[in-house]
Amino acid sequence: MKALADVINCMSDYDPDALPVARANEVIRAFVAPITGVQTLALRDALGRVPAEDIISPINVPAHDNSAMDGYAVRADDLSPDSPVALVEVGVATAGRVFQGEVGAGQCVRIMTGAVMPGGTDTVVIQEVARVEGKTVTVPPGQTRGQNRRFAGEDLQQGKPALRAGSLIRPAELGMIASLGIAQVTVKRRLRVAFFSTGDELRSVGEPLAAGEVYDSNRYTLHGVLTRLGCEIIDMGVVRDDPALLEAAFTKAAEVADAVITSGGVSVGEADYTKQLMAKLGDVVFWKIAMRPGRPMAFGRIQTGGKAAYLFGLPGNPVAVMVTFYHFVRGALLFMMGRADTDLPLLRVKSQAELRKRPGRTEYQRGILEQGNGEWTVRLTGAQGSGILRSMSQANCFVVLGHEQCNVSAGDPVDVMLMDGLV
Ligand code: AMP
Ligand code: MG
Repeated sequence: MKALADVINCMSDYDPDALPVARANEVIRAFVAPITGVQTLALRDALGRVPAEDIISPINVPAHDNSAMDGYAVRADDLSPDSPVALVEVGVATAGRVFQGEVGAGQCVRIMTGAVMPGGTDTVVIQEVARVEGKTVTVPPGQTRGQNRRFAGEDLQQGKPALRAGSLIRPAELGMIASLGIAQVTVKRRLRVAFFSTGDELRSVGEPLAAGEVYDSNRYTLHGVLTRLGCEIIDMGVVRDDPALLEAAFTKAAEVADAVITSGGVSVGEADYTKQLMAKLGDVVFWKIAMRPGRPMAFGRIQTGGKAAYLFGLPGNPVAVMVTFYHFVRGALLFMMGRADTDLPLLRVKSQAELRKRPGRTEYQRGILEQGNGEWTVRLTGAQGSGILRSMSQANCFVVLGHEQCNVSAGDPVDVMLMDGLV
């Protein structure tokens, strides 16, 4: 197994005290590894899961050439480019009922959408343009050979991968797999993620609050984001800033989980023991990341007995927890789940107002993307303090101001990342 030092040593300009966001993500990505465990599930239960191997199509979809429209199946050779042609209707083909026999010269078959193309025909004339008198169907000129015909295998080809390992099974994929007649899929097992909050000042919901105490909200936001990501979650509660209790919590987490997320206790002047303990229990680095909010963070792997878990020690401030989760942990966890693509798109829209921004750090301001006068623009949610969780709640996007970005003038374009894409 790689040591963190091996990863970090190959980076030039690595500075743990002013680490750019992109650099931190490079280290994380180079260090974590996808889980190998798989399980076979009934198709519906595979929603939100990651196929462990390519799903190869056992059949062509559609299985036969068929009609894309209601009309008449004809032989293109019978048609004329510049005059109408009269054909004799010799039968009917509907979806699920195949026309038996061969269609000869001068003949046609009434056909419905989805019906298999009768033998001898290659083209469908839509019913709206055909003139019908008894069994005589007159086709106007101007038809194109092969029109309105779907080809066997045009959706999914037999023997070819219908779905790649590492993709995500969404509703469209459930339907696509069903269209292949596949009832079970082999997917990566769920990622097990343990988390706990640290701090003597924290109380859990349901307990009375004394002076100087606050309710633990981080465990609730983490519950939310981890559940949405499809993880198996292990909520380990609040752990006081007590070395023995913290050590027990870390040890248990390393035993049961693939990854551990903690909040609090990684900031600079804090009289916390988390940092010492994390370092004692494994291979952990402490970073001050060039970002706002969310500067301090610990990352690495902790071990106990033969078991190990990746560790993400997030800052304590509620907004900083969510921002560092979304921009470091989310992608790492998806990668561990076996996902091939974890990037989220940035969109560029106009900022309604001037934004203050110092170069040399990445800022994730909370924004509201809204439409007015036929244009989408973005404004901030208001106070951007890292303890103000309301700024996350009111937002529908992050305004991402990159490392080198300076002040933004009103009307200038900025990058935004939709929060809906984050879960
Ligand atoms: P720390 O990183 O431990 O210094 O915490 C920074 C700030 O975040 C302090 O004001 C803490 O009280 C607050 N905080 C830490 N953990 C939590 C939590 N789980 N829920 C709400 N606030 C927290
Ligand atoms: Mg603390």
